[in-house]
Amino acid sequence: MKRASMSVDGRTRCFAVFGHPIGHTFSPMIHELFIRECGENLAYLAFDVTPENLEDALRGAWAMGFRGLNLTIPLKERVIPYLTGIDPLARKVGAVNTLKRTEEGFYGYNTDVYGMQSQLRTNGIHLQGQDVVILGAGGAAKSALCVCQMEGAKSVSVYNRTYERATELVRRFEEACRGEETPRMRAVSLEELLNMPHPYVIQTTPAGMLSVSDRLPIREESFYEDIRYAADVVFNPKDTPFLSLVRSHGGKGADGLSMLYYQALKAFEIWRETAFSKEQARRMKEEFLSWAEGFFHE
Ligand code: NAP
Repeated sequence: MKRASMSVDGRTRCFAVFGHPIGHTFSPMIHELFIRECGENLAYLAFDVTPENLEDALRGAWAMGFRGLNLTIPLKERVIPYLTGIDPLARKVGAVNTLKRTEEGFYGYNTDVYGMQSQLRTNGIHLQGQDVVILGAGGAAKSALCVCQMEGAKSVSVYNRTYERATELVRRFEEACRGEETPRMRAVSLEELLNMPHPYVIQTTPAGMLSVSDRLPIREESFYEDIRYAADVVFNPKDTPFLSLVRSHGGKGADGLSMLYYQALKAFEIWRETAFSKEQARRMKEEFLSWAEGFFHE
């Protein structure tokens, strides 16, 4: 992907991602593709915003006419008190990664859920009626629980290195879903995890990221023998040690880059209130993936 030479003037409608740290974000590259495709006068920037500066940064962005924002680590939960409203799905997940400007302030959405759902579906991973394991109990695990519910999984077992956090995640999600149909959900210990069937696994810890010293979320090699379908949220590198092990044991693995792409696509569609065609979305995804391939091999 060639970097577009952005043309900005007094009518440019601005968007941005806030996060801390932000130096390694891929969001501007993805949104640049969308902007080029729709041919409108838009620009997308990235800002390093600490949690302490979030309220001021949001006020500033609104005062300066920003049309929409994305939020990444560690702001997705912290942003909620500053919003004028929040979409029901984002409320259920308890995390917001997309803001849209309204007359009164910014309104919050969660597009990570859509991103993960699309990551699974486009890789032929269908959770309906299945027993699913989620590794991790942080923000991305909340999205994974929501995806399992929406896709009609039969049961979800959450494993986290800090067991109490997994218990708390399940408790809170059950509370958020009161009155709705949900999979059977529980937290499991490492011993239980290693001794139960686990053909479907969603990996939501940062283990395997280039900047993280732990290469794997689960060290025991036997764990990987039973996995038939796996999705990893980590996208740098594209082929994580987790996915490589799953594939080397004959399982199918979906990488986090496609989740990243689809969450961005949904955010852009929320902002423009219009969707790209399937063909446009597919073509831009290919372009992004080949750009990322080059990036990792530089
Ligand atoms: P988070 O809220 O900090 O949660 C991280 C979870 O992983 C916690 O449960 C933590 O366990 C566990 N964990 C952390 N380091 C670990 C390690 N070395 N080994 C095993 N478990 C570990 O983070 P998050 O927001 O969920 O983000 C997690 C990952 O998802 C990040 O790499 C992020 O970049 C990625 N992500 C990707 C996308 C995408 O579009 N592809 C979207 C969102 C997030 P403890 O509770 O014990 O600390």
